[in-house]
Amino acid sequence: MSTLHEKNETVQADIIGLTHDGEGVGRTSAGYTLFIPNTLPGEQVEAKILKSKKQYGYAKVTEFKNVSEQRVEPPCPIYKECGGCQLQHFDYEGQLVWKRQHVIDSLTRIGKLQVAGEQQVSAEGDATSTEHQVIVHPTVGMENPWRYRNKAAVPIGRGESSEELVGGFYAKGSHRIVDMKDCMIQKERNDEVIHQVKEIARELRVLPYDEETGTGILRHVVTRIGVVTGEVMVVLITNTTRIARQPEWIEMIRKRIPNVKSIVHNVNDKVTNAIFGETTKVIWGSEVIYDELDGIRFAISARSFYQVNPEQTISLYRKAVEYAGLTGKEQVIDAYCGIGTISLFLARNAGHVYGVEIVPEAIEDAKRNAKLNGLENTTFEAGPAEIVIPRWKKKGMKADVIVVDPPRKGCDPELLDTILAIRPERVVYVSCNPSTLARDLRLLEDGGYRTVEVTPVDMFPHTGHVEVVTWLERV
Ligand code: SAH
Repeated sequence: MSTLHEKNETVQADIIGLTHDGEGVGRTSAGYTLFIPNTLPGEQVEAKILKSKKQYGYAKVTEFKNVSEQRVEPPCPIYKECGGCQLQHFDYEGQLVWKRQHVIDSLTRIGKLQVAGEQQVSAEGDATSTEHQVIVHPTVGMENPWRYRNKAAVPIGRGESSEELVGGFYAKGSHRIVDMKDCMIQKERNDEVIHQVKEIARELRVLPYDEETGTGILRHVVTRIGVVTGEVMVVLITNTTRIARQPEWIEMIRKRIPNVKSIVHNVNDKVTNAIFGETTKVIWGSEVIYDELDGIRFAISARSFYQVNPEQTISLYRKAVEYAGLTGKEQVIDAYCGIGTISLFLARNAGHVYGVEIVPEAIEDAKRNAKLNGLENTTFEAGPAEIVIPRWKKKGMKADVIVVDPPRKGCDPELLDTILAIRPERVVYVSCNPSTLARDLRLLEDGGYRTVEVTPVDMFPHTGHVEVVTWLERV
């Protein structure tokens, strides 16, 4: 069957939206959908079709017919090449409005929810199956949306000249490394640490890993800083079980990186896109670094998840605590608890908090953190939430509130069923992916819950990502 438009054809398109990768979604007058990079909603462009499929195609702009008032000059010099940010050409206010709309679209299309102030989705008789209206608040933005990341994970590779070592983000849609000196969404300290580690690797003549051949040694450098404490962790990820010239590495890192508290070696000898391999060893200093959020101190080890934008994390967690509606007596479950960050925010206002998390090191951190802050009304267990919580339920555990904060793929159906069986008064759903959030909300709604409020939080300015916190109540 032929497509509406053919490859190499030049067409006019109106940009009607953005994908979560920040690519413009264009419509031609014939109703054909085109994905066109570097365009913004409201713009009209002339574009050349690069690839065409039956339902949609890909194109690139040949001429702007109408430029959005929200288009701004991206301040980062490598923005066009680098795949780290997607929205720097969109003014910040526009980004926040778009992120809220993206959440609303998922809630209505996938979740079949009715959002207050929005038209009902009724295409092809696919009417919303919710009677009540969900309130979606404006996206909580940052006053200064730059230099927010406390963590950098940088792939290392060969530069143009064969022996040269580069490290930075991958280029858009590829695995070519764009060497990075200065990243505008990264804390300056992280840029400096990465720079120093690359220098040391060059001086020690460490061979960068080559993805194509699987040869070479240094694969990634990960650095994390405690923004409040100033403590630094450096993780070297290599293809080899030992680091050659390890004493020199340690000495040079300690000399050149002020306040380094922990140097860690992780071995990844697999052909994989995953950054970390299975073996992790502290080669100098402490197993953890410390940071502080809203007066609570956290120990963070190399393999534990910890939110990358501390300022926005505080806003997110405070909102989660507010949505939990605690009075001091409640039994609360915190599923996907990581190092117990949300758990401890909740524990300040709850009777008891039970946290569950799949990474054992993170659970060790969570236990340590509870002690450190004198929040001993907490219990933590390592394991998959969809196995541990059903087990708790079988033993007769009850909960007034259940908080979930799953990875991008959302909650396991087994867990959602168990939540419905435990029947807490409230569920607070923290999500980094509006699509799986909407899918899971539909299930909870069908099981007797009502989605009351949703607050998007801009955890990752200038990228297409959005974090969301949602309050549900038992009907
Ligand atoms: N609530 C924490 C962590 C959120 S990130 C915070 O705000 O810091 C999601 C967490 O879920 C990660 O720590 C990840 O290791 C964990 N995880 C992934 N799959 C899981 C599963 N099936 N059961 C429990 N935890 C899981």
